[in-house]
Amino acid sequence: MVRLKSYVAGRWFDGSGTPARLVNPASEEVIAEATSEGLDFGAALDHARAAGAELRKLSWAQRAALIKGVQKLFHANREELLDLAQLNGGNTRGDAKFDVDGAIGTLGAYAATGEAMAAKLGDRPWILDGELAQLTRAPRFGGQHLWLPRPGVAVHINAFNFPAWGTFEKAAVAWLAGAPIISKPATATALVTFRMTELLAQSGLLPEGAFQLVCGSTGDLLRRLGPQDSLAFTGSNATGAMLRNTPGFAERGVRVNVEADSLNAALLAPDVEIGSELWSTAVRHVATDMTQKAGQKCTAIRRVIVPEPLVEAFEEALLEQLAATTVGNPLVDGVTMGPVSTASQLRDVLAGINTLAANGRFITGNGQRVDGKDAPVGKGFFVAPTVIRMESAAAGAVHDLEVFGPNVSILPYDGSASEGAAALARGQGSLMSTAYSDDRAWLGTVLVEASPWLGRFMLTSSKVADQVSAPGMVLPSCIHGGPGRAGGGEELGGERGLSFYMQRTAVQGDRVILGKLLGIEG
Ligand code: NAP
Repeated sequence: MVRLKSYVAGRWFDGSGTPARLVNPASEEVIAEATSEGLDFGAALDHARAAGAELRKLSWAQRAALIKGVQKLFHANREELLDLAQLNGGNTRGDAKFDVDGAIGTLGAYAATGEAMAAKLGDRPWILDGELAQLTRAPRFGGQHLWLPRPGVAVHINAFNFPAWGTFEKAAVAWLAGAPIISKPATATALVTFRMTELLAQSGLLPEGAFQLVCGSTGDLLRRLGPQDSLAFTGSNATGAMLRNTPGFAERGVRVNVEADSLNAALLAPDVEIGSELWSTAVRHVATDMTQKAGQKCTAIRRVIVPEPLVEAFEEALLEQLAATTVGNPLVDGVTMGPVSTASQLRDVLAGINTLAANGRFITGNGQRVDGKDAPVGKGFFVAPTVIRMESAAAGAVHDLEVFGPNVSILPYDGSASEGAAALARGQGSLMSTAYSDDRAWLGTVLVEASPWLGRFMLTSSKVADQVSAPGMVLPSCIHGGPGRAGGGEELGGERGLSFYMQRTAVQGDRVILGKLLGIEG
């Protein structure tokens, strides 16, 4: 059995006490264990602070090159990482690629962002924000906003569903901004992150201390964070709320970014014709989000809001699409959907599905565990794709409860843009949603009324139906995060993502001196 150690202060640390166990979710066989008990988090922070000073001495171009090196390292070891992601996460090969290739792709994208910044900024560590402006009547007195890296440590805590992408999308942004990282993956699926850290440590690519890994609990780490440090958290709303309230955070102004749960939606307009390409795209998007990673994506569509007259046809088309799904051991050829990742996930998903169904009725699935193809009978955390019909889009648990597994609820509505937008808003803030229509007036109303509730909004119309990325796919060039229950955070978005690790300062003074110091022409 693999013993996952933490990588801290330049060495591997094996904790004491009772370890947490990691299992293969298709067989429930224990494959690894981890504990961080006894780890000296003060030493980890000191080590990170020293590394931060070295990282910030590097130019944008050098940091971009470093990120590119990490991307190449993971790419060279991709097959091994995919195997581990399958073993520990219940992933099909496609699911594992979504995670591991997502990490590799995001590192590549941030290396490119860094190169573009280097071309624009040269060796200057600051990023100008707006223009050097006259502030009062005195012509020589001016001001310039600028961003500079904060001399702090980035603590990252990630969810179980993306052990590769979740860890390294955050890392790419933080490294480019010059922040050293202490990263904690969710323990249950930490095998991939552990191996990626081994590869990093062996490679010597990074300044020592630029990436430290905690396998297990974070002990007293968070209580030690100071005013230049930050916590980027991804996980459930409940854990996010608890971590925001870490003693000392408010007093010391520790920055916190929360990526939490989300009731993403697909909203169909009445003009979408049954059987059209736009219709088929919507059906395909919903089926993919239900089954990819067994529905364990924070961006997965949970609510499908459909004009009343189209509901039965939509359900029929969705069932037809889902008929191609084979639930089972994801290591076996022909299996298209694996189990959910942990025993507690299985419990929560089944309980959640039954709570939703109490307000509606099952179209497919029945809220019970199923056996998986080529998995031991009675073993494995398998759930069948489940579709539930609600009476209406008006209210109910479907707008409150995120069931983090292979399910959607179909919600009939009257087809009006305002009612559609209101249904999206009932999710209380979502990471993303998609609207399907060619009706520009309808799209315009929905765009204005629903966008404040969404981090990302995809307007899918016929001419781009075959070009749009899958709604659940997070692109490094667009922000990821959402208001309200989704946590209110923002990650990625190209250069925008760096602001979390930087300080914006309004520098005021003699415009001539400021111009000279900051290299501003004129
Ligand atoms: P979770 O139970 O909230 O755990 C998330 C992380 O927090 C794990 O690493 C967990 O560590 C850690 N944690 C829990 N208690 C902690 C504490 N007291 N101190 C420090 N760390 C602590 O969430 P999950 O079950 O892993 O993930 C599923 C949820 O994440 C879903 O709600 C999903 O929507 C959300 N999610 C959101 C996004 C997004 O980008 N918005 C992405 C993916 C997932 P242990 O594993 O060691 O307990």
